[in-house]
Amino acid sequence: MSRSPRRGSSLPDDCLFCRLYREGDHVAAVEGFVAIRDINPQAGTHLLVIPEHHIESFHHIAEFGADEDKRMLDFIAEVAAREGLSDYRVVVNAGRGAGQTVFHLHWHVLGGGLSGRMT
Ligand code: AMP
Ligand code: ZN
Repeated sequence: MSRSPRRGSSLPDDCLFCRLYREGDHVAAVEGFVAIRDINPQAGTHLLVIPEHHIESFHHIAEFGADEDKRMLDFIAEVAAREGLSDYRVVVNAGRGAGQTVFHLHWHVLGGGLSGRMT
């Protein structure tokens, strides 16, 4: 199998969030998107919304189609509502300098007992 590196980042085969998309413990799921609980929660409720479509970061969001963008945002709102969150924070860390540690686009949904940190 060919394994040429892509922009110095892991291929989807090696990607933690591609794996968790396929076989994680999903709090919610719709076609193309899942939500999981963050392993290291920074708030009373801390979920991660993960698209099936692997892009390394929000910098490449233009690779998503308009319908995909819309469905992703709708799913984020749906997940927050299903968790009973009325007020919450939606965060994307775009790039290492912003604190991104997993290079598969994901959205943090934080609510309940928010700390001052963004994630
Ligand atoms: P970021 O730092 O924005 O890239 O966010 C990555 C998030 O993934 C962090 O908040 C981690 O706590 C979380 N995380 C890492 N590994 C796992 C895992 N196996 N299951 C759930 N969350 C994870
Ligand atoms: Zn991935």
